[in-house]
Amino acid sequence: MIDLKTCPTCGSRRIRRVRRNVTRTSQGREFNVPNLTFHECPDCGEQVYSPEAMERIEACRPKRDDAAA
Ligand SMILES: [Zn+2]
Repeated sequence: MIDLKTCPTCGSRRIRRVRRNVTRTSQGREFNVPNLTFHECPDCGEQVYSPEAMERIEACRPKRDDAAA
């Protein structure tokens, strides 16, 4: 897990690691990723996802073919 000290967008040193439920949109459908850990900058709102976080988002992303279940 990376631990950012400065925001890559605005350079703020207040960026911090948070863990919360996030809502993402894929192909017009919203889906939730519970308890996702990522970095968020309080100054510019930038959200930085580590490779691990991206994997969790992908794991939660609804598959195109499993509609009508
Ligand atoms: Zn920032």
